[in-house]
Amino acid sequence: MTMKDKTLKIILFILIVFLIIDMVLIIKLGGFKYITKKVSEMKYTISNKDKHYNDFEDNKALNNKTEDKLIDNEEKLKEENKSSNIKEINTASNNYIDDVSKVLPETLYQWKFYREDHKKIAYLTFDDGPSREATSKILDILAANNIKATFFVLGTSIERNEKADELLKRMYNEGHTIANHGYSHNYSLLYPNGIIDVQAVIEDMNKNTSILKGILGNDFYSRIIRLPGGYYSWKGREELYIKLKELGLYQMDWNALNGDADGKSHGKEQFMNNLINTVGDKDIIFVLMHDTDDKKDTVNGLQEYINFLKSKGFEFRTLK
Ligand SMILES: [Zn+2]
Repeated sequence: MTMKDKTLKIILFILIVFLIIDMVLIIKLGGFKYITKKVSEMKYTISNKDKHYNDFEDNKALNNKTEDKLIDNEEKLKEENKSSNIKEINTASNNYIDDVSKVLPETLYQWKFYREDHKKIAYLTFDDGPSREATSKILDILAANNIKATFFVLGTSIERNEKADELLKRMYNEGHTIANHGYSHNYSLLYPNGIIDVQAVIEDMNKNTSILKGILGNDFYSRIIRLPGGYYSWKGREELYIKLKELGLYQMDWNALNGDADGKSHGKEQFMNNLINTVGDKDIIFVLMHDTDDKKDTVNGLQEYINFLKSKGFEFRTLK
């Protein structure tokens, strides 16, 4: 054995002795307890993480369940409407009015926009009116083209427009559908935290209906509503879906638009491009536009949008 080996052995021995002394001290001074505590804390953190993960999974499952229910309801609806396929939709109605209770469940609610016969049908819709300048211009253009459209009028727009009575009566008398966009258009009231407050929505719609009855007579009633911001923008749709069904109301979104909801106008050429892109090759289109004085390029370009749709073979109809 060399001197070097001897030295190494001694160092190793000293280290082992120190290690033993350390362990005795740790156990004696409760250090071991500390280590045990640390280990159990680690275990707790891990299991808590699991818990959070499980909560997240539970929420996800709950959401999925709600979605499933919604789909179930929509499946049920599909089943109920099986007897009337898209081919038959327009045969029972008069020359320009279609039955909303057939059209929407067959098309928008299923996101199905193609017909067996590929007949092209356009439902033009104008939201947020009546307006001081735009409404009469829109009505003039529609009249010149013999087109009936659907106006989702808003209670607050009616109240702040001294010509509202006259404009609404003109819409009505010229055969357009006056549908319900509610009273307030107030997202935080209707959808606190992005979740639909069903009662608030129904009250808001009823408030607008009362105003409309005051102008158009007590017989006026529309079973078509459009949620401000659209139906699919909000959570809690299942409860609303059930309520609307109970009340015999139909919510109507859109599948084509000229993009005039976007704050600033990019010109009627841009609006035309938006329309071309969103119409695509669909046979049935629900076109979203706005009847407000700040959307000048909707009015300015309306005849061109109509020309484009006519060139694609679209027939213009309305829903009731
Ligand atoms: Zn709106």
